[in-house]
Amino acid sequence: MEEEEVKKYIKAGEIARRVRDKAEKIVKPGVRLLDIATELEREIQEQGGQPAFPVNIGVNEVAAHYTPTPGDPSVIPDGSVVKVDLGVHVDGYIADTATTICLNPALEGLVEAARRALEEVVEIFKPGIRAREIGRVVEKVIKSSGFKPITNLSGHSIDRFMIHSGRSIPNYDDITAVWRIKQGVYAVEPFATDGAGLVREGDQVTIYALRPLGRAKLSGAEEEFYNLVYSERRTLPFALRWYQGLRGDVASLLDGLRRRGVLVEYPVLIERSGRPVAQFEHTFLVLDKEVVVTTM
Ligand code: MN
Ligand code: MN
Repeated sequence: MEEEEVKKYIKAGEIARRVRDKAEKIVKPGVRLLDIATELEREIQEQGGQPAFPVNIGVNEVAAHYTPTPGDPSVIPDGSVVKVDLGVHVDGYIADTATTICLNPALEGLVEAARRALEEVVEIFKPGIRAREIGRVVEKVIKSSGFKPITNLSGHSIDRFMIHSGRSIPNYDDITAVWRIKQGVYAVEPFATDGAGLVREGDQVTIYALRPLGRAKLSGAEEEFYNLVYSERRTLPFALRWYQGLRGDVASLLDGLRRRGVLVEYPVLIERSGRPVAQFEHTFLVLDKEVVVTTM
């Protein structure tokens, strides 16, 4: 990897860490999710990055892929467990990190289990280790605390302008994950729950991404919208609320893009038995001779 690329990955990681620290200060009962997401996304930009995806705020059983909608009235509930998952990119070089804020003393054990799982991964993560071994450690730590890892969510390899670039890092001892960590960038994200240990897709979609246009034919208004979003995002995820100021109805433009097959939708992911979920995540930059945890 070129030195310039390494610098950008590290800069993205530093911004992500500072904004995550800020999230831990501003998430409080009664605060609007929309205000939290907007504030954190503004902070990412003020520090010289761009959001790699909309700030995800997962309350209780919402495990992933919820970002506030335009005018979202929801607030942080008393006694909840709140995950904030945020991504930063600098010229396409991504850092992906998450933390859990525990507003319920009875759920502290759950949150600590996920936190310790990630800490143990930091200790063992090195070039040559099998993905399966990372999953085995995550599962062992979480189960030894009396909880379950969420087995249908995983970490992932990262590439420039790509959050998930093909490889998955399991949160359990997956005997099929025999591939080994080599030079590159990876996110590891243990999820713990006292429920079923699986997520299902909810009905709601709050996060979208464009597909490459290929041979799709768009209307004039659709093409204008596609080009605007593509120029800012390429195929990185975006939120509807980012484009609310535009002339025309953004929801109907999205309907059009969906019909033309150029829109990816990420449904909200919810713990199957409706139980609370905790998550922590770091990004690992694997170089020739060292591993840098860019978000630590
Ligand atoms: Mn993440
Ligand atoms: Mn991730």
